Amino acid sequence: MPARRSPWMNQELDDLRDLARTFSKKEIEPNIESFIKNKQVDRELWNKAGELGLLCISIPEEYGGGGGTFAHETVIMEEQAYVGDSSWGAALHSGIVAHYLLAYGTEAQKHEWLPKMAGGEVVGAIAMTEPGTGSDLQGIRTQAIREGEEYVVNGAKTFITNGVQADMVLVAVKTNPTEAAAGISLVIIPTDTEGFRRGRALDKIGMKGQDTCELFFEDIRVPAANLLGSEEGQGFIQLMSQLPQERLIVGVSCVAAMEACLDLTLDYVHSRTAFGRPIFGFQNTKFELAEIATEARVARSFVDECIELHVKGELDIPTAAMVKYWASERAGVVVDKCLQLFGGYGFMEEYPIARAFTDLRVSRIYAGTTEIMKEIIARTLRTPNGV
Ligand SMILES: Cc1cc2nc3c(=O)[nH]c(=O)nc-3n(C[C@H](O)[C@H](O)[C@H](O)COP(=O)(O)OP(=O)(O)OC[C@H]3O[C@@H](n4cnc5c(N)ncnc54)[C@H](O)[C@@H]3O)c2cc1C
Repeated sequence: MPARRSPWMNQELDDLRDLARTFSKKEIEPNIESFIKNKQVDRELWNKAGELGLLCISIPEEYGGGGGTFAHETVIMEEQAYVGDSSWGAALHSGIVAHYLLAYGTEAQKHEWLPKMAGGEVVGAIAMTEPGTGSDLQGIRTQAIREGEEYVVNGAKTFITNGVQADMVLVAVKTNPTEAAAGISLVIIPTDTEGFRRGRALDKIGMKGQDTCELFFEDIRVPAANLLGSEEGQGFIQLMSQLPQERLIVGVSCVAAMEACLDLTLDYVHSRTAFGRPIFGFQNTKFELAEIATEARVARSFVDECIELHVKGELDIPTAAMVKYWASERAGVVVDKCLQLFGGYGFMEEYPIARAFTDLRVSRIYAGTTEIMKEIIARTLRTPNGV
C-alpha cells in the first residue's frame, strides 16, 4: 500500500515511534504467549515502560508525566497494536485513568497518584460496570456512604481491565442512592484497603492475556478526601466528559489492528501456494485485499481527523461515538476477510490473525456498545429546520 503519513505526525512523534516500536518488539512481542498463559502481563513491564517515559506521556511534567498530547498516546498504542498485543492495559492506565485524575483530581490527589502511575509503580484501573448493569450506568448499585470523615463502600464491579494488577481503582459509586445520575461520584480506592477483594482473572474468548476481573468492596473505609474532585454527585458528568477520549482510544486501536491484519495477510498470501501459484495470484484474493486496504484507509482518515480534533480539544461526544462505532464495526469485517485468506491456519490460535479475530470482537462491546454509540449519534440528528 502507498506509504501514508498521518497529518498529526511530526519529528518528535517519529522519534517516539522509534522508541515505542523498539519497546514493543523487545518487551512485548516475544512475551505475548506467556502473557496469554498467565492471563496477565509481567508486572515488570509497567516499570520498564515507566523508566522509558512510555506511561502517562500526555500528563503534564509537573505531575511526573511526559508533557505530551493525545498524539503521543496514539503512537504508543499503535506500536503495541502493530505487534499484535492486546494484553497490556497501558492505554487504559495512561489514556483513561490518569486523565480522570488530571481533569478532576485535587492537587493533592494528582501529586499523590500521577507520578507513581507515570513511573509504573502504581497500575490504575477504572470500575464502572457491575454484574447487574453496564450500558445503563445510572443503575449502578455500589454505594459509598459518608460517615464522618470517611466513605463506607459496599458493592461489586465486573469486567475490570487491569483488575488483577491494579494498585488503585477509580470506582463509580452512588454517594446518594436515592438519585440516578445525580447520585453518582467517583472514589479513589487503593487496592490495599481492608475489605477490598478481587476475583480471579476471567476466561475470555479473546484478549486472553489481559487481566480482566471482578472486584468486591465489603465495608471498605476510605478517607472522604478520596472523592475524585471536591463535590459529590459529579461522577456522571465526569464520565460523560471523559468517555470521548476512551472511545477514540478504541477507534485508534481498531484502525491500527486493521492495518496490522492487512500486513499479516499480505505476507501470508504471497508465501502460501495453491494450484501452482501464490494465493495472491487469484483475482478473488486481490479483490478482497483491495477492499480490506480501502476499508483500512477510510477508517484511518476518519480516526486521523478525530485525533487532530481531540488534540485541539474539539472532539465532541457524537463524533467520538461515530469513530468508535465505525472503526470497531469495520475492523470486525476486515479481520474476518483476512482470516478467510489464511484458510485453516486462520483458525489456529497460534496464528496472530486468529488472535486478532477474537481480540477485536470486544471492541464493539466495551467503552459503550455499538447500539449505545448509535443512540448517542441519533440524538444529535435534526432536520435542516432543527426538528
Ligand atoms: C474485556 C472487557 C473489558 C472491560 N473493561 C472494563 C473496564 O475496565 N471498566 C469497566 O467499567 N467496564 C469494562 N468492561 C465492561 C463494558 O464496558 C460493558 O460490558 C459494556 O459497557 C456493556 O455493558 P453490559 O456488558 O452490561 O451489557 P448490557 O448493558 O447488558 O447490554 C446487553 C445488550 O443490550 C444492548 N443495549 C443496552 N441498552 C440498550 C439501548 N438503550 N438500546 C439498544 N440496545 C441496548 C447492548 O448494546 C448489548 O447488545 C469491559 C468489558 C469487557 C468484555
